Amino acid sequence: STFSGLGLDPLIIAHLSSKMNILKPTSIQRAALPALLDTDDGPPRDVFIQSQTGSGKTLSFLLPIIQDLLPLSSLSYIDRSVGTLAIIIAPTRELAKQISDVLEALLNLRLRPSDELPDDTDSAPRLTRWLVSGLLTGGSTRTHEKARLRKGVPILVSTPGRLLDHLQNTSSFNVGKCRWLVLDEADRLMELGFEESIQGILRGLDGRRKLALQAVQEGKSSEVGGWDWERQRRTILCSATIREDVQKLAGTTLKDPIIIKA
Ligand code: AMP
Repeated sequence: STFSGLGLDPLIIAHLSSKMNILKPTSIQRAALPALLDTDDGPPRDVFIQSQTGSGKTLSFLLPIIQDLLPLSSLSYIDRSVGTLAIIIAPTRELAKQISDVLEALLNLRLRPSDELPDDTDSAPRLTRWLVSGLLTGGSTRTHEKARLRKGVPILVSTPGRLLDHLQNTSSFNVGKCRWLVLDEADRLMELGFEESIQGILRGLDGRRKLALQAVQEGKSSEVGGWDWERQRRTILCSATIREDVQKLAGTTLKDPIIIKA
């Protein structure tokens, strides 16, 4: 089996094989990608992914996020008002760093197929020019993180504590248009006692979204070229187990989820 037929953009498939040596989808990717890439009308459904580490679950959520944000690459620049569009929460710094590394590799995607390129293939525009990713784990100073958030970080990977801290204390952290939220390794998030932080994060995101929508109704916000940013947030929860505490977290964070196991 191959990646074609799952709904992935051919440019992404070509990048996976030529630059990342990823040729065939794993079973969780075969199950999750069609659900997360669906282009049907109607609001996007939340998703519960049950799978072990090592199953390829990281790409199962990163690829749909990248594909969703691809239209931004047709803008001449990303308006600062776009802010953060996707947030991935991981239980530990190490895990956040691993996810961020995979994300960086994906963002090196060339925006034109190689057969359209001149001899100097490095001149092809890369997604990294439009989409910046950022890692918030408390590894650098709060002031430094604030400065980066003020400039706008479209895709953010974070541990729960630092994210909550910025939602509460960084007024220039623009997340009112956030359209993807991933809770990775939810079982470990619960084991490490992050339930309260996650509830706080959800309240923070909901509050800022309300303010962003109000600003639009009052004509204060600049529209970003044809970008449907009012789309409601889609939440993905990944866990190796469906323990009771994970189910409880899913109950408060996911709405009528599609459940995917592999
Ligand atoms: P994960 O379960 O997301 O932590 O992924 C485990 C490892 O599998 C990572 O090193 C990935 O780069 C690799 N991987 C993910 N998907 C594939 C795939 N379809 N083919 C080959 N390797 C993969």
